[in-house]
Amino acid sequence: MTFKELGLVDNLLKAVAEKGYTNPSAIQEKAIPLVLKGKDILASAQTGTGKTAGFTLPILQLLAASKHPKYRPIRTLILTPTRELAAQIQENILVYSKYLDIRSAVIFGGVKPASQIATIKRGVDILVATPGRLLDLENQNKLSLKRIDFLVLDEADRMLDMGFQRDINKILVLLPKKRQNLLFSATFSKEIKKLANGFLHHPTMVEAEPENSTVEKIIQKAYRTDKSKKTALIIKLISDGNWQQVLVFTRTKHGANRLCKKMIQKGIKAAAIHGNKSQGARTKALAGFKDGSVRALVATDIAARGLDIPLLPHVINYELPNIAEDYVHRIGRTGRAGANGEAISLVSSDEIAYVKSIEKLLKQKLQTTVIDGFEPSEITPDNEKPKTKEQKLDEQRQRQQRRKNKLAKTNSQTRSGQYAKSKSNKSKNRNKSNKRF
Ligand code: AMP
Repeated sequence: MTFKELGLVDNLLKAVAEKGYTNPSAIQEKAIPLVLKGKDILASAQTGTGKTAGFTLPILQLLAASKHPKYRPIRTLILTPTRELAAQIQENILVYSKYLDIRSAVIFGGVKPASQIATIKRGVDILVATPGRLLDLENQNKLSLKRIDFLVLDEADRMLDMGFQRDINKILVLLPKKRQNLLFSATFSKEIKKLANGFLHHPTMVEAEPENSTVEKIIQKAYRTDKSKKTALIIKLISDGNWQQVLVFTRTKHGANRLCKKMIQKGIKAAAIHGNKSQGARTKALAGFKDGSVRALVATDIAARGLDIPLLPHVINYELPNIAEDYVHRIGRTGRAGANGEAISLVSSDEIAYVKSIEKLLKQKLQTTVIDGFEPSEITPDNEKPKTKEQKLDEQRQRQQRRKNKLAKTNSQTRSGQYAKSKSNKSKNRNKSNKRF
């Protein structure tokens, strides 16, 4: 299949070819013709599948083919959970719309709004936004959403995780009823389905890969160790392997800062990216990581979600996520564009239950090894490990069973007691009657 066969116009084909894309990805093959036909879509796709071009290319084509008032109202709204993802989408739009008369802009919090307001005032066809800043500017009458023809909700699952449900609802009532809607999500929870039912019109389901599947080419390894040995181990792995571009995940913002500091002390150029960092620091860290001046980018799940870093060879889980799906998102940062990638997890005793949940989700075992000098010093007894959902359910079932057994036993005892009583009464009566006769 070629981009031309998908029905894209020459000006887009030229831009796509210059970007170096030869063939459409799976999600692009499925989504582009549907969007061009005016359909609402509900798409399951993670970052790395080419989903951004999947929705921006057809929207650009439809926008370019339609007339707009001279003042250029916003006709497409793309909502994303994070600033980085918003900026990334905007970068892609600029590349794809190079040969079209289309203007786009991006707005997000953490920076002064003045220049964003000025850009919007000049007129933009496409606005990429995070929900908070969009509502702020709308409340101040700095923008209007009354002429929206296309709405895209990107990484909708993460938006809900980040508590944007109320903001999304507020935004939806600001939009005209007649419009085309596209929803992209890596996972399909009940909440996502509910959200989708609320605003999509007869959507077509589009799937890039089976839900929660990991990219086959990613080599996944787990190293058992102690919590206290993790920092030394990660520094050893990066130094011995001479890895030049490593994305490291921690569970907390403080953990990211601490690890980053230690790495820098040991001569590894590192930067942290998380919600407490200013937008300037986040942009600088990401740019440094992309241009190679930052060797290790230490990130929390939310900050890293949706980051497009091409051909990332190594991802390390310094700490495992407590939500198994996040593991899939994390390791999805490696093995991009058909390249081999390696995802390594450092597992301490208190994280064994997380490994089990991940293995259950992936339906495969993580290859676990121990590195000399970093062995776990003690094997935590089973009763000290955090319990998995499955373990908790099992225990609940066992408790219910025990209760049932006990009840059954008591009932049978009562019955047999009554039986014994009635038997002895009967025999007494018999005796009585025997006596009578
Ligand atoms: P996305 O999933 O949209 O974040 O895209 C992931 C990466 O794949 C980005 O670096 C895109 O530039 C790249 N990409 C998107 N579509 C294609 C394609 N058809 N061929 C090669 N690379 C692509």
